[in-house]
Amino acid sequence: MAFSALDPLDLYDVRSELSEEEAMVRDTVARMVDDKVIPLMREAFEQHSFPRELITEVAELGLLGSSIEGYDCAGLNSICYGLICQELERGDSGVRSFVSVQSSLVMYPIHAYGSEEQKQRWLPAMARGEAIGCFGLTEPHGGSDPGNMKTHAKRDGDDWILNGSKMWITNATIADAAVVWASTDEGVKGFIVEKDMPGFETQEIENKFSLRASVTGALFFDNVRVPAANVLPGVTGLKGPLSCLTQARYGISWGVIGAAQACLDEVLRYTQDRVLFGQPLNHTQTIQIRMADMARRITTAQLLSLQLGRLKDSGKLNPTQVSVAKWNNCRAALDIARDARDILGGAGISAEYVPIRHALNLESVITYEGTETIHQLVVGKELTGVNAFG
Ligand SMILES: Cc1cc2nc3c(=O)[nH]c(=O)nc-3n(C[C@H](O)[C@H](O)[C@H](O)COP(=O)(O)OP(=O)(O)OC[C@H]3O[C@@H](n4cnc5c(N)ncnc54)[C@H](O)[C@@H]3O)c2cc1C
Repeated sequence: MAFSALDPLDLYDVRSELSEEEAMVRDTVARMVDDKVIPLMREAFEQHSFPRELITEVAELGLLGSSIEGYDCAGLNSICYGLICQELERGDSGVRSFVSVQSSLVMYPIHAYGSEEQKQRWLPAMARGEAIGCFGLTEPHGGSDPGNMKTHAKRDGDDWILNGSKMWITNATIADAAVVWASTDEGVKGFIVEKDMPGFETQEIENKFSLRASVTGALFFDNVRVPAANVLPGVTGLKGPLSCLTQARYGISWGVIGAAQACLDEVLRYTQDRVLFGQPLNHTQTIQIRMADMARRITTAQLLSLQLGRLKDSGKLNPTQVSVAKWNNCRAALDIARDARDILGGAGISAEYVPIRHALNLESVITYEGTETIHQLVVGKELTGVNAFG
């Protein structure tokens, strides 16, 4: 019996597991990424600038807050959100980061914990890309331990007075509103800080060697008066920000698959044409083994994320399962990108080929939303019942 050839980027035919709607979302986003994102990313990365024209493109396709029902959002399932992240990150992790932050870290908490007035005010505008959000949790003294938060807010009549700072914040200087997590006498609360509020300043972090096509910055609060109407009423405690991170980490587990696929795709083509010692590079055993290993790791990552998405849509998701996928898939993608860079030889350090850009980006992606170590310790705690963080 003759077998038909497999898709090197989808060895287990995950595509056949997708519903018609999921496949359509994937194809639509893939086309947009091929036509509009990929042609811009090399230059955007070199120029250290986020291509803001892409905000309209992603908004028009309904990719911002795509999992939210109502409020002009698309109401798609979690697999669709994952596929959106995968295709965007095939273009660049910076564009996927923009969509992750806007969708999972800003629109999600406003939808899950906000007042009706906050939802009406922000969600439709954010879905259209007319209002940009950022998420302030990490502080300069250590992002892995958000329980040790120094940013604090005190009640003053009907208002709150906010002081402190946040570091490494995606979209910081382009945001109209920041969802800021601060400690209060009543526990950690979420505040919607608007860009023009007196005492609120932002500063861009320059000279990054990673995620150069994404805006990253710091937030500073000096006696910022935040009205009670801007406090998220539906949550108190660290579970607020942690629940947002679960959403975003889920999307990242899919996103990095796209970056890894782009790298494998590049080396499959390159090693066909590169002739060394009288034969194309892809005829050698070690090159084949390395590319086979990339395909194996991509396949594993795809199946992890697909099952994670099914668990999420059936309401059975455990955050530890998200840690397994975020850890596994980021590690796989980073290793694949670094190895792809090496297989290209000297050409691998050129921006003409995608692996070096993806590898540099993935150095951030493996660090943000919980470093690899943090996710390993989450899994360790689940296995042993012992908290080894402290
Ligand atoms: C490009 C970029 C964008 C980002 N965007 C955002 C954003 O939008 N919003 C936001 O709030 N944050 C954001 N972050 C911050 C990110 O989440 C943090 O960088 C991350 O959580 C790690 O925190 P840290 O950098 O302070 O490192 P630290 O917490 O200081 O960790 C330093 C090292 O110590 C290790 N470590 C920590 N705890 C332990 C332990 N118990 N045992 C052993 N080792 C340990 C870590 O794994 C790491 O290797 C972003 C970061 C980057 C780089």
